[in-house]
Amino acid sequence: MTTSSDVIDDAPKATSQDTSASQPAGTLGGDRKGSAEQIALLLFIIVPFLALIAAVPLAWGWGVSWLDLGLLVFFYFLGCHGITIGFHRHFTHSSFKAKRPLKIALAIAGSLAVEGPLVRWVADHRKHHRFSDAEGDPHSPWRYGETVPALMKGLWWAHIGWMFDEERTPQDKYAPDLIKDRTLRNISRQFILWTVVSLALPALIGGLVTMSWWGAFTGFFWGSLVRVALLHHVTWSINSICHAVGKRPFRSRDRSGNVWWLAILSCGESWHNLHHADPTSARHGVERGQIDSSARLIRWFELAGWAYDVRWPSRSRIDSRRNTGADGSRRGRETAEAA
Ligand SMILES: [Zn+2]
Ligand SMILES: [Zn+2]
Repeated sequence: MTTSSDVIDDAPKATSQDTSASQPAGTLGGDRKGSAEQIALLLFIIVPFLALIAAVPLAWGWGVSWLDLGLLVFFYFLGCHGITIGFHRHFTHSSFKAKRPLKIALAIAGSLAVEGPLVRWVADHRKHHRFSDAEGDPHSPWRYGETVPALMKGLWWAHIGWMFDEERTPQDKYAPDLIKDRTLRNISRQFILWTVVSLALPALIGGLVTMSWWGAFTGFFWGSLVRVALLHHVTWSINSICHAVGKRPFRSRDRSGNVWWLAILSCGESWHNLHHADPTSARHGVERGQIDSSARLIRWFELAGWAYDVRWPSRSRIDSRRNTGADGSRRGRETAEAA
């Protein structure tokens, strides 16, 4: 059982030994992004996004084969659960312990989502929890203020803009535990390799199954480009939409909300208010009917003996975090009181 202090800050502390200069970085490059990387990042965002827009007329004109649809769905949920179960609930928040093969499989599956190297993802996300919606949060939609134009600008920042910020989260401070693990550090440093694998596999399968170049192309289009674009926007929506709207039945010191209509596509991560109220909980959708496929899979991993020490939230723990305010938002009450 954890104490309430982990609600505020559950990132492992860096010791003086961890921050020694001899420790190799968990990603290639230093703590600042170069302009070449900025351009590569822009291409990675724009190209799949154009594919997503093109997907509608293409589906209308050609139709989508069951094979391409299957590739899209399979690789979408593989990468999505790699992020939610692996990068997020296991590596960032230690909501369960994993046997070595599962740990490595989760690190690779998350890397296939093309959301950046493991160590950087975890460092950014731990910093997000430490400062959530306050100064220092890498991606708060409230960064520019509370007026409508400021929120519009902030939503754009939280969704995409923050990734272009030159300032990087210091990895030795926020993810020393991952950098110390040689295998995890290498998987993180091999991010480009995992990106190539992730984009090439659907094309390869599409080509081999249909024995045609056209099959390879449509496999790449649906299984790689459209899938990556969709997954990116759903993940980024947790940073933007789930910190701007949604119900707030639980106490958290930020603006995180539960957004039901993103639950299936986000693999259970859009129950984001509960997550900020109890970050180490292995289950985010704690109420009846709140779909959380990541929690279901963690349960299966536990039954198989691959996951252990899972932090399942007890009913009393959940109830102790409930909001008692009429508007469901402590921050809202504070703002109202201050006004
Ligand atoms: Zn959040
Ligand atoms: Zn989190």
